[in-house]
Amino acid sequence: MDYLPLFLKLRGERVLLVGGGAVAARKAELLTAAGARLRVVAPELGAELAALCDRVGAEYLATAFEPTQLQGVVLAIAATDRPEINLEVSRAGRAASVWVNAVDDPQASSCLMPAIVDRAPVMVAIGTGGASPTLARLLRAQIEALLPERLGQLASLAGAWRARLRAALPRADARRRFWEDFFDSALAQQLLAGSVDAATATAGLERQLEDARADLTATSARGAVWLIGAGPGDPDLLTLRAQQLLQHCDVVFYDRLVPPAVLARLRRDVERVFVGKEPGRHRTTQARIHELLIEHARRGRRVVRLKGGDPLVFARGGEELLALSQAGIAVTVVPGVTAALGAAAATGIPLTHRGVAQSVCFVTAMGEAAAALDWRALAAPLQTVVFYMGAAQLPQIVARLVQHGAPPERYVALVERATLPDQRLIAGRLADIAARAAAARVGAPALLIVGDVAQFVGQAVSGEQRVVDENSN
Ligand code: SAH
Repeated sequence: MDYLPLFLKLRGERVLLVGGGAVAARKAELLTAAGARLRVVAPELGAELAALCDRVGAEYLATAFEPTQLQGVVLAIAATDRPEINLEVSRAGRAASVWVNAVDDPQASSCLMPAIVDRAPVMVAIGTGGASPTLARLLRAQIEALLPERLGQLASLAGAWRARLRAALPRADARRRFWEDFFDSALAQQLLAGSVDAATATAGLERQLEDARADLTATSARGAVWLIGAGPGDPDLLTLRAQQLLQHCDVVFYDRLVPPAVLARLRRDVERVFVGKEPGRHRTTQARIHELLIEHARRGRRVVRLKGGDPLVFARGGEELLALSQAGIAVTVVPGVTAALGAAAATGIPLTHRGVAQSVCFVTAMGEAAAALDWRALAAPLQTVVFYMGAAQLPQIVARLVQHGAPPERYVALVERATLPDQRLIAGRLADIAARAAAARVGAPALLIVGDVAQFVGQAVSGEQRVVDENSN
């Protein structure tokens, strides 16, 4: 992060504006709207800025820029069309510990003006660190379209009720829940649509507050668990429902496969508890995870159990569902994109394909369970078999398949860290995949896709993706 976004309180503060043209006039409008007292410096003033200075009673100095003009100033804007003057303001500002923004010159600026979506008191500021003002403007247009016009009124109403709420609901999580329910409510929608008056809104809020108070005395009724699939890694593959719940929950129990980019989508103050296995650390046992989920739900919290891929595919989600329902806790499952689907999409391998694979099978060949698998069925033609957790067992898997009749020239693809920025793909045949994987030092998590559909690898692969080793047979 090169810049920290902040909102400046400029009301009554002195701001220096260097420049007299149209660009300076636009900045003057903005600064005046924020309540700043302007000191404008320019040998000549354009008509627009002159009118504004008159209207707001700005101080005007009809001279060139001088460092002494920075006295008593909290912020300086250099808005001339002469880069050397902007640079001078910037240097003098730095020396005097005054923040300087030089228009269209990030180098000479110690702070940048964002693109703004204004629904005061709600403000959305968009910055690109000076990389692309055009992109910032495009994003602004998208956000403008997303945010209702009356959003500011809704925020003001909430602001007016804050003190009252603090007294009525002393617990911070209860207050947060109250506001979440309010912003989700029909009343809030009507306010945004402009279809209720202030008195009705107040009466509605009073009712909601009473409901919230009643809920407080029966908190356990509201505790619940959501068993959520986080998808294979790319945070854009989260479902919309998962995304929403990550904003609304109180605590998240997650494991190793949930990538940091997904955790970054959590609301900031959500409690995060790692319950996975990590080298050198002890794994939280499954029984302990059940206890934790139940304990937190009983305290009235909204608990998310977040797992890589889909929570009901090789994730012990079934056991958690069972334990929770036996404990009488409400639990909802939110599916995720399982690793096989993520890997298929990211490598362009169709899992079924006319004439090549009529069915697809997800298996795990971990440890002792491997012996119990029907290897003859897995070795049969015209299907795709996706092995989860198989990378370490690759030579054994290949040997068993061949032993049970799979031809050594059957196509295979190994996909490491599918959908993540450092995804790798190793394509080969049963005969050589183990050697190729060893040479490429494939690590976890990786999926093995066995079947002749793997010959179509790369159809949807973007130019950036690395194919470590193309099959050359
Ligand atoms: N519930 C998960 C699977 C968990 S089992 C799901 O539905 O995807 C863990 C195994 O999943 C890993 O050993 C690996 O085989 C596979 N896996 C998970 N994420 C993966 C990824 N991004 N790329 C490749 N394989 C992955």
